[in-house]
Amino acid sequence: MKPLDKNRIYLDHNATTEPRFSAKKAVKKALNYWGNPSSIHQDASKAKNLLWSARQNLSHFLNCHPLEIIFTSGASESNNYAIKGLFQVQNKTRNELIISSVEHPSVLYTADFLSQKGFKVHKIPVSKQGFLDEAFFEKHLSEKTLLVSIMSANNETGVIFPIEKWVKKIHEKGALFHSDMVQFLGKRKVDLKKLEIDLASFSAHKCYSLQGCGILYCKKGIMLESLIHGGPQERQRRAGTENLTGIVAFGSVAKEGDIILKKTQKLKSLRDNMEKYILSHLKKVEIIGHKALRLDNTSCLCISGIHGETLLMNLDLKGISVSVGSACGSGKLKSSSVLTAMGFTQKEAFSSIRISLGIETTKEQIEYFQKALVESVNRLRNLE
Ligand code: PLP
Repeated sequence: MKPLDKNRIYLDHNATTEPRFSAKKAVKKALNYWGNPSSIHQDASKAKNLLWSARQNLSHFLNCHPLEIIFTSGASESNNYAIKGLFQVQNKTRNELIISSVEHPSVLYTADFLSQKGFKVHKIPVSKQGFLDEAFFEKHLSEKTLLVSIMSANNETGVIFPIEKWVKKIHEKGALFHSDMVQFLGKRKVDLKKLEIDLASFSAHKCYSLQGCGILYCKKGIMLESLIHGGPQERQRRAGTENLTGIVAFGSVAKEGDIILKKTQKLKSLRDNMEKYILSHLKKVEIIGHKALRLDNTSCLCISGIHGETLLMNLDLKGISVSVGSACGSGKLKSSSVLTAMGFTQKEAFSSIRISLGIETTKEQIEYFQKALVESVNRLRNLE
């Protein structure tokens, strides 16, 4: 496959990010140490050392113990593992799960799966402004709750949920807390110790590293039933020969965690200025979640009178990549489950696009993009 065209403007960083130079360099190095980390000869020990030093870098970045990290194939697996793994450990008195209604499908569908198996699932409503219904949460959190799973930041709207506020209440009821921290990593400081969270999911490719590699953070002492049975890797918690290149690349990016966080600081003013420009040049545009605390890189726009997919294709032809929340299943377009769960109509959900900036996004790119967007929307609206 050809590398992404450098002349294009990539504004879809919540979908995936370009691996940093250090990640690419680490891959080359790891390819030279291709021994199986589980073997016991010298060729293996080099691979094992690389694996361990990546684990240490990541544990430093996340502020947890290296052995609290379980490497997975990505956050979809981590989310499945955290939730199913916990509910499979017998607990006769606790059989309820609480999630937010705007979770990633890897949490939502896992919850549906458990509900089909007879567990009770409560989905916390989220308002149109992006706020979780705290009264609902308090009402349903009880001695029957085994797990609460709430994402740290939403992938479509960028809205940040104040999870630190809830940890204490969850623990007071004797329940555990999992958070899908995929979109948070690299955009805000993650401090697992300080958060006192029990389980957390991360994905390397959302943080300038490779696809196919993730982490499940599992606090010391928490028992989960394995999702993948087999070999003794990851201290018998996740069978399968490790994805050494992916893990080593993730570890090298973690070493640059502070640089990444510093670079993300510039995104807020870029994003805010872009939104100001769009609002002053286009009528009937709503910035979803603008009253809530949001990730600095994300802007989710509902643009009345246009179809998000058509706009996406128009922008694509102009060399710009953005995304829409809708998904195509069996030839039929489905609107964003996040936006409809927040109370937007199907029509409104189909009229939205997501713009997500990355650490290499420049002012010039944003200026080009915002003009292209206004031009395309005006043209599409005139065709109506
Ligand atoms: N959780 C969130 C919030 C995401 O945005 C994504 C990816 O889109 C995932 C989980 C799944 O991550 P992965 O691609 O590593 O399975």
